[in-house]
Amino acid sequence: MTLPLRPNIASMAGYVPGYQPPDIASWIKINTNENPYPPSPRVVKAILDELGPDGASLRAYPSASSQKLREAAGEVFGFDPSWIIMANGSDEVLNNLIRAFAAEGEEIGYVHPSYSYYATLAEVQGARVRTFGLTEDFRIAGFPERYEGKVFFLTTPNAPLGPAFPIEYIEELAGRCDGMLVLDETYAEFAESSAVDLVKRHENVVVTRTLSKSYSLAGMRLGLAIARPEVIAALDKIRDHYNLDRLAQAACVAALRDQAYLAECCRKIRETREWFSGQLRALGYDVIPSQGNYVFATPPDRDGKRIYDGLYQRKILVRHFSDPLLSHGLRISIGTRQDMEQTLAALLEID
Ligand code: PMP
Repeated sequence: MTLPLRPNIASMAGYVPGYQPPDIASWIKINTNENPYPPSPRVVKAILDELGPDGASLRAYPSASSQKLREAAGEVFGFDPSWIIMANGSDEVLNNLIRAFAAEGEEIGYVHPSYSYYATLAEVQGARVRTFGLTEDFRIAGFPERYEGKVFFLTTPNAPLGPAFPIEYIEELAGRCDGMLVLDETYAEFAESSAVDLVKRHENVVVTRTLSKSYSLAGMRLGLAIARPEVIAALDKIRDHYNLDRLAQAACVAALRDQAYLAECCRKIRETREWFSGQLRALGYDVIPSQGNYVFATPPDRDGKRIYDGLYQRKILVRHFSDPLLSHGLRISIGTRQDMEQTLAALLEID
């Protein structure tokens, strides 16, 4: 039988996430920008407390509104909780932004290279996708005076390249977008600045954040969006009503309340990032200055795949993109100092 699939689903390739080796413990896995450090000890305690000795709490549905999480996030970011929605990873809220604002056949836009999952989410909705390149001085190439698409996603800091867009430039873009401007700040805690305050000045700006990277909670699937209450109310209508499980909710509040742990973790990663970038440059690599927990580095012979393979043979997993815009280099997540020392030693062996 031919499945009665919607044609856009039938023709979709589907998103391929970063590779996860089955024997992951024996690898240096620096391919999906995970945090090498464990989450705050307070997070572990909160999960165990929520679970209790027999797990009885799991019988009951979690809070549908995640109100305590909105309050904790509101304190961190300086917003009333009515400006915040919690999500099952920021991917969930990116998806719901498209569902809320872009009907079938309408346009969403984003910068290429950035996060190609926006395109997958748009394809599912039957929305059209338009991509824009980057100029030499790291601005969007050919961005129209008035952008008429329903949603424009700006990843800042950019992944996989690393630089963040200046706030004044982002503010200018907000004024040029007829639709929503979504600032995907997945990596903002590793950066020098955040554009989150633009939400207060521009009705069409939404900022998304995640606990996957800086808070070391990729495994719990926790993200959020900050936007005007009307936007949050719309997103609340379309999300799964119990979108965050009990353990994730407990973990989230504890993580957000331990800002000292977060700051120390990010400090270590930034320090390792700067040290590692310098070491790579000394080996002749071209390294784009990064504001994230990763660097995009191009070897002297511009053969990213050769280096990827050499590292892979040594059980070091980095990210190589076959896209011709990126295939000359590698995106390398910042692990512990020891992970990066071993990676450098392997790079020396490969050359
Ligand atoms: N945006 C960007 C730019 C990302 O790199 C990622 C993670 N790979 C996400 C969003 C999604 O993050 P999560 O769903 O784990 O919050």
